[in-house]
Amino acid sequence: MKKGRVFSGARPTGRQHIGNYLGAIQNYVGLQEDYDCIYCIVDIHALTTLEDTHLLKENTREMILDWLAAGLDPEKSILFVQSHVPEVMELHTLLSMVTPLSWLLRVATFKEKVKSQPHNVNYGLVGYPVLMTSDIVLYKADTVPVGEDQLPHLELAREIVRRFTYLFGEVFPEPKAKLTTFPMVIGIDGERKMSKSYDNDIVLSTSPEETVARVSTAFTDPARRYRNDPGHPEVCNIYSLHNFFNPGRVEELGVQCRGAAIGCVDCKKLLAQGINAELAPFRERRAEIAGRPGYVDEVLSDGAGRAHAIAAETIREVKEKMGLP
Ligand code: SF4
Repeated sequence: MKKGRVFSGARPTGRQHIGNYLGAIQNYVGLQEDYDCIYCIVDIHALTTLEDTHLLKENTREMILDWLAAGLDPEKSILFVQSHVPEVMELHTLLSMVTPLSWLLRVATFKEKVKSQPHNVNYGLVGYPVLMTSDIVLYKADTVPVGEDQLPHLELAREIVRRFTYLFGEVFPEPKAKLTTFPMVIGIDGERKMSKSYDNDIVLSTSPEETVARVSTAFTDPARRYRNDPGHPEVCNIYSLHNFFNPGRVEELGVQCRGAAIGCVDCKKLLAQGINAELAPFRERRAEIAGRPGYVDEVLSDGAGRAHAIAAETIREVKEKMGLP
């Protein structure tokens, strides 16, 4: 017996990095055992901020390859692309009629976007939480894995569901948060969260050699200017990454760093070795899946078909409850 139905979506950001892997992807893989999982690449959401869309298709394919190689199993989970099930846009329109504009205008992320992209404050941006709610409730998901910072978004989804239920009757379960602690993975700039847009990421599917080269450029303890200077591992991101990729050596490396018994060049080489060892099976599987002609399209088409079957029934119920002729 599964515990419930999980929905989670991620934007098509292309080849994934170790921050995505340690955060979302490993969590997705684990949830498959206990829940019916629906994982979606939310390409329509991406349009609220993207002005250039020529990479959308390629990024979607690269991301699905990473998901499959990391262990997302199309036999266990539904994997699909948001725009392949157009009922979500229909539900978005219907739910937008029951969502007061004032609720959307006070959303913190909307206000941030107004500041960060003042030249592109589009209609989709303000309706983003309604589309997100539609994503979840169209499939009657009752569980949404979220970090603490995303709780307000889920609460808004729950408010929209409650308002729909109050006005028209029950169709959707109120989705509950499955609070998840996502490790904060800092990028190789040593300052900001790892992200493709900051160009501070380490991509999962690069070669071992590229990984070594990438890690070698990472920032370390800024106070350690010479090889003989004692280091401060607690302020060094290379050290925190050893926690994930060389967990058995963290203590020893900390002592060596503080006593200047190891230099940063060697310490980085050890980290790159750890990353390459951890990712070797992933990279092998990814190459094998990428070599199967038509496989990714098959997975996405099958996922869209299964998602559509649920979505069509929900839309039928919604229209009936709303009294649409
Ligand atoms: S030795 Fe390692 S932990 Fe210490 S400062 Fe250099 S890279 Fe960081």
